[in-house]
Amino acid sequence: AQTRRSKMIDEIDSRAPVAATVADSADQLTTIYDSDTYGLNAMRETLPSHCYKKIREVISTGQALDPAIADMVANGMKEWAIKKGATHYTHWFQPLNGLAAEKHDAFISIFPGDDRLLLEFSGMQLIKGEPDASSFPSGGLRSTWEARGYTVWDPTSPPFIKREVNGSILCIPTAFCSWTGEALDQKTPLLRSMDYVSDAALAVLSSIFGEKHKKVFPTLGIEQVCESSVKDKQTNIHFYLSRPDLINCGRTLVGAKPPKGQEMEDHYFGSMNARIVACIQEVEWRCWKLGMPLKTRHNEVAPGQYEVAPIFERANVASDHNMLLMDILKSVAIKHDLICLLHEKPFAGVNGSGKHNNYSLATDGGVNLLDPGLTPSQNARFILFLSAIIRAVDLHADLLRASVANPGNEHRLGANEAPPAIISIYLGQELDKVVRDIISSNKTTLTSPPQKSVNTTASTTSTTANNEVNNMWLGVDQFPPLPRDSTDRNRTSPFAFTGNKFEFRAVGSSQVTSFPCIILNTIVAESLIYIRKEIEAAIAAGTPASASYNQVIKKVLQTHERIIFNGDGYGQEWRDIAAKRGLLNLRSTPEALSLLNSDKNIKLFEQSNNILSPVELASRQHILYEFYSKSIAIEAKSMYDLVATSVLPACYKHQRNVAESLNSIMPFIQSQPNFKQPTAQINNLGELIESINLLSEQNIKLNNAIKHATSIESDCDRATHLNQSVIPIMNEVRRYSDHLETIVEDSLWPLPKYSEILFLR
Ligand code: ADP
Ligand code: MG
Repeated sequence: AQTRRSKMIDEIDSRAPVAATVADSADQLTTIYDSDTYGLNAMRETLPSHCYKKIREVISTGQALDPAIADMVANGMKEWAIKKGATHYTHWFQPLNGLAAEKHDAFISIFPGDDRLLLEFSGMQLIKGEPDASSFPSGGLRSTWEARGYTVWDPTSPPFIKREVNGSILCIPTAFCSWTGEALDQKTPLLRSMDYVSDAALAVLSSIFGEKHKKVFPTLGIEQVCESSVKDKQTNIHFYLSRPDLINCGRTLVGAKPPKGQEMEDHYFGSMNARIVACIQEVEWRCWKLGMPLKTRHNEVAPGQYEVAPIFERANVASDHNMLLMDILKSVAIKHDLICLLHEKPFAGVNGSGKHNNYSLATDGGVNLLDPGLTPSQNARFILFLSAIIRAVDLHADLLRASVANPGNEHRLGANEAPPAIISIYLGQELDKVVRDIISSNKTTLTSPPQKSVNTTASTTSTTANNEVNNMWLGVDQFPPLPRDSTDRNRTSPFAFTGNKFEFRAVGSSQVTSFPCIILNTIVAESLIYIRKEIEAAIAAGTPASASYNQVIKKVLQTHERIIFNGDGYGQEWRDIAAKRGLLNLRSTPEALSLLNSDKNIKLFEQSNNILSPVELASRQHILYEFYSKSIAIEAKSMYDLVATSVLPACYKHQRNVAESLNSIMPFIQSQPNFKQPTAQINNLGELIESINLLSEQNIKLNNAIKHATSIESDCDRATHLNQSVIPIMNEVRRYSDHLETIVEDSLWPLPKYSEILFLR
């Protein structure tokens, strides 16, 4: 008779790609792109021109919306959405549970005394919502009886149509805060931090370089990695569904290493499986309709692992889009009889999944401030922004580490497959040389004659310091031409310069990207302000402008050069060097989170226009601890159950079979004096009995450790106990279970094996 597992394998083998509506020619892309968002194109078509001009201004510069035009925009939006088939609208927001939230309202209203239904959507309904939001985590920001939370429209992120099987919903990206104005979401502080870094960068551009811009935006391009696991709908025998660990935790808790894993490296950039391509094509199609510029797709290193990447966008839009992308990936996968796992480490022994956040700053006119320049002045600008980032990362490595601390990422950071838990910066050889040259140069005053800088916009600023700076010759001719294309790559660095942007590579694949971005914006802004003030102070003290610039940049680079590391981040050698340099190596999540709320960080956020007020910061730490503890507790309980109810019973059956088999031959052997004792078989049985016993023992120990965790009051202590006591026992349980998997009769093993999950599509 066929076993459950062998039936599944047959089913999977017989499947074909699922057809879906996708582009049949590239021409079509231009027509459907953005067709389901209420962006500038749709606005131009549906709004009176004076209203369109105003909203366009709001979007391009992020200034406040004039309530007078809100009604008009709402009406245009409603008409458009109804044409697209929407019956409902929702404020779409990102509470602190790591997911997107929505609550649908129909476009209907009835005037008192009138019995006719009206389709209505007012400016007020667009701008502000009041969901009953008492069940979202607030980290102690409010008690449940203070249920009131407000959602507030973010006009800079376009509303979009979400299509369900039976009708569509107009989704309006919003921020979410309490009635006292505290941020209950990721978006509010993200928008605050974007404004803050914009102001800091504008001040540098104007004061030091005499450049006038309206706004600077952080830009974000997020490479998203995910893994697929097969699921079969037709027969109700689900691969996925027969792994309770995948269902409960999104990752496998047991599973022996298969004979073939990723060692052949034959998956990376390989030709893609037909069913996977069909699925990703549909994902892309849906994303394009929503104006999400998905560009790249490829197989990643681990079997069953794939990457998609969009073209970068402004940080808030990119974060919203990444949130949507994760949703779309999961739901489209199911349609294709696949499960999309966004966990950082679904399978042991093969690479985990990350999310590379490519980060830069750009002016409203589109100038990338991390683009090495063509002219001395552009070079000077580039070096200043680069220095600010180097300083920021060195001073606040703890925050960057905390921003990627989640239970899944704990398996990646520090393992030899992902950037280490030590935060450092990779510059590449050429740029590293430029930085070393600045550090070692003795020039603090310049001999070269003043030359006109290449500013195009005449400055009208009134302070004397500014006038002086505007005319300065920055004297950066000592720099060799800067590398415009980084040729070398370093996969082992958590924070790598890649030509004209930084790539923060330690972010986990399931993470909401806002938090790491909030941290980056805040710390970069703080450094930009510091550097500008230092230069201004030197000038005020009588140092020539160019010398002031050189002196400050040199000092900053000298002070923070320890954070730069261009070598192999995976090796023990780096850990030793990093320790000598005094860099942090926070391997566990609880350790990383413990520093989030330090005095230094409370002060930093408070001084940065309260991007996160002290209570908001504390609430985030609380939520992150809780999320960690809950996740590990769920994993531990799932493991206990899985071993007690599936793994051990299978082992007992096998044990009985082996024992019975030996028993059955014993009389025969005893009756034949010439026969040797079957010692190997007896030893095997002995080993089996011992392994099963050890597994049982560890599983009981695990259960006791879980019980103890529930009795611990403090967030931090509970997380630490789970990390230091429970996880090591889980590792032991896994070790015995995985060993038994390799000796128990294959047909008795109840769970799909790695060789099946990883390779069958
Ligand atoms: P790689 O895998 O070689 O790092 P990819 O093409 O997969 O490169 O991803 C690079 C990402 O960086 C893309 O999302 C791209 O849009 C983004 N990117 C490029 N320039 C910038 C920039 N100035 N700011 C932010 N992201 C950027
Ligand atoms: Mg990539």
